[in-house]
Amino acid sequence: MKYYILFGPPGAGKGTQAKFIAEKYNLLHISTGDLLRKEMAAGTPLGLQAKQLIEGGNLVPDEVVVGMIRSTFANNTEVAGFLLDGFPRTIAQAQMLDKMLADQDSKVDKVLSLTIKDETIFERIAKRAQIEGRKDDADPATIQNRIDTYHAKTEPLIDYYKNAGNYCEIPGEQTIEEVFRSICKEIG
Ligand code: AMP
Repeated sequence: MKYYILFGPPGAGKGTQAKFIAEKYNLLHISTGDLLRKEMAAGTPLGLQAKQLIEGGNLVPDEVVVGMIRSTFANNTEVAGFLLDGFPRTIAQAQMLDKMLADQDSKVDKVLSLTIKDETIFERIAKRAQIEGRKDDADPATIQNRIDTYHAKTEPLIDYYKNAGNYCEIPGEQTIEEVFRSICKEIG
């Protein structure tokens, strides 16, 4: 079983690239953001709990997202591998993921990190707000909080995975096709 992480700030293009990568390499794409939005749309207790946090641009608790990942792994044993999009977002999540994979003699194969400038994040999210209608994309203060949260809680994962030796960086401000080609080169 292969495990790839698509890493980067909000608006880096993770969702767009994930669809192409999952198709080409026959991986199951898991977006914790998409899973949470489904829970919100269905009005489940988990969705209701997550709604305020998401709409304020804050992270939902580690245990919640780790639980979603754990059950998605358990329910999909026939796939070639997984592509994690938007997970992990904290060191604690990365540690829990490592533990989960170590328990089944697996590991994270590669962290594909898309890099973009903070100004580009703003432009891209504002554009996406018009297309997808996400509430957390619509308000500049929420976008800023998501960027700040990324720098404070998620960016430290770069060193975590650099130390693990499976981290690679892809400039995210090229065209969609160029980014995809660069990612494919890294996957090999
Ligand atoms: P995304 O679609 O990846 O931009 O995620 C949208 C929102 O869902 C984030 O701003 C967080 O509030 C929440 N979320 C998604 N993934 C995670 C995660 N791994 N840990 C904590 N919160 C998350």
